[in-house]
Amino acid sequence: MNYSIALVPGDGIGPEVTSKAVDALELAGDKFGHIFNFVELEAGGCAIDSVGEPLPTSTLEAALQCDALLLGAVGGPKWETLPGHLRPERALLGLRAGLGVFANLRPAALLPQLRDACPLKDETLTASNNEGKPAFDLLIVRELTGGIYFGERGRDGDGKSPSSSAFDTERYSRAEIERVLRVAYDAAKARRGKLCLVDKANVLESSRFWREITMEMAACHKDIETSYMYVDNCSMQLVRAPGQFDVIVTSNIFGDILSDEASVLTGSIGMLASASIGLKVEGRKYPTGMYEPIHGSAPDIAGKNIANPLAAILSAAMMLRHSFSLEKEARAIEVAVNATLDSGLRTIDIASRSSTASAEKIVGTNEMAAAVMKALENIPA
Ligand code: NAD
Repeated sequence: MNYSIALVPGDGIGPEVTSKAVDALELAGDKFGHIFNFVELEAGGCAIDSVGEPLPTSTLEAALQCDALLLGAVGGPKWETLPGHLRPERALLGLRAGLGVFANLRPAALLPQLRDACPLKDETLTASNNEGKPAFDLLIVRELTGGIYFGERGRDGDGKSPSSSAFDTERYSRAEIERVLRVAYDAAKARRGKLCLVDKANVLESSRFWREITMEMAACHKDIETSYMYVDNCSMQLVRAPGQFDVIVTSNIFGDILSDEASVLTGSIGMLASASIGLKVEGRKYPTGMYEPIHGSAPDIAGKNIANPLAAILSAAMMLRHSFSLEKEARAIEVAVNATLDSGLRTIDIASRSSTASAEKIVGTNEMAAAVMKALENIPA
């Protein structure tokens, strides 16, 4: 089969890590008999530099013509002083809204090979974990195209007088909440059957609305154990007993913050992939999908060949699974990543925290990705 993929490398380490994800897709394509055609597009800081806006209309139009989108990361200090509407991050919001990808799936699991890169103690990892192992495996389903990141915002006053103010607005419609809850319940059904709504219903009206709708939906999903937790408690529970969670579903801003916290528990933000999915719309072969590592453009390490490429490579695997239903191909990439970690290779961000760790070899972006490709080559089709 032929698939067209919009490729948006972006800024900082974005191009370094997306090129490795492209290698993985091409190799998986050769192995399993698919052709992936990449359409490279500009968005973010690089687009500001070349055409003066973070998301050129031509980028969004071209992305909409493709079967899926693979993104690196956007942003960096060079563009930080620009006004809000011209910041590189506007490109992300524009792509998500333009593609209609309203549900962001962020799996966070502690791989046994990275046990030493996780900052938590064994007793913390075994707490509330039914299997009694020092591990966790959770999925954050984050609402992606609504809430405070898209709400009305503005400023009043001259910015200097005491009465000057600024505001952002959290607003959710029933339809927005219901559609992301449906995705989360489906995910819980395919996993361990637990769903936790994370909100701030003790304070926020929008959270109380989320809770009411979740309760209605819970009544129709009796096979799923539905629970509710305030976001402040959840941020604590993630470092107290992450094994208690299966699927967490939450709003845009809470999901953004909690998934960065969860990423550190897996060893590094350089390990976490994400899939942003929308509905199948008229005229498209596949449901809309945007795939990206959850990390940013990491300007502090860009161009140094030290960025971890695994989150980007694993995002490519998520694309194969979620957009194209190519489960065997997605698994092959994941198995190759696992085999590479088994062999002891580590980028610096996932190096063991214990000085006694043996059999680890610290490598750069290129060497890590090359090892994954070699492992992928060796996996039978
Ligand atoms: P960041 O994720 O870029 O970096 C946070 C820390 O994690 C840094 O120390 C960085 O070196 C490290 N890190 C990130 N990815 C890594 C990887 N693959 N391997 C090893 N280490 C890695 O977050 P930040 O520093 O808050 O933001 C930097 C820029 O990225 C900002 O302009 C921000 O707005 C932007 N950003 C973009 C996205 C996106 O494009 N999706 C997401 C978050 C932040």
